[in-house]
Amino acid sequence: MKKNIQEIIEVANDIYTKGLVSGKAGNISARFKGENDDVVAITPTLKSLGKLSEEDIVLVDLDANALTRGKPSSEVNMHLNIYKKRPDVNGIVHTHSPYATGFAFSDKRIKRLEGFGEIKNPYLPYIEYEKPGSDELAVKASEGIGLDDVLVLKNHGVICVGENLKEAESLAVFVEETAKTQFITYMLNSVEDII
Ligand SMILES: [Zn+2]
Repeated sequence: MKKNIQEIIEVANDIYTKGLVSGKAGNISARFKGENDDVVAITPTLKSLGKLSEEDIVLVDLDANALTRGKPSSEVNMHLNIYKKRPDVNGIVHTHSPYATGFAFSDKRIKRLEGFGEIKNPYLPYIEYEKPGSDELAVKASEGIGLDDVLVLKNHGVICVGENLKEAESLAVFVEETAKTQFITYMLNSVEDII
């Protein structure tokens, strides 16, 4: 368990350093097998992901019962609902990364590029806005992600999931890169050539 907690701290630090989360925003979690049931380790509420230590990570069961002291992220139910719906998912990264979130606040969609797996839909899936931390968001997010590994939350941010936390992190980095490239393309296409 210590190894899993250490990995959460590493990934949290990594996405903070890469600028995918800032201030006290964003939250990540990992699921692993406890003695009897699944245990979810999640980042705490109101703390920067760039400054976490082992005792900050909160352990809960799938019904949100606390297994350790500390207050989990306000989005804990969103994470738990996704784990309950997706037995294949063991890591979740939720960020407000600036380019992807810029798209989430606009009427433009993020195009699906190579690296997202099989192309079923040309754009990344999204759900309409629900208040952060609300039960409505927790329910809609777990339904909205379906069998996909990424979901855009309108006027809010992005969720990426994976078979482990590192996979979810890689996808979060890739989604942000994709949104950045599309943003630059839109900008370049909108200016006249100066020759
Ligand atoms: Zn958020």
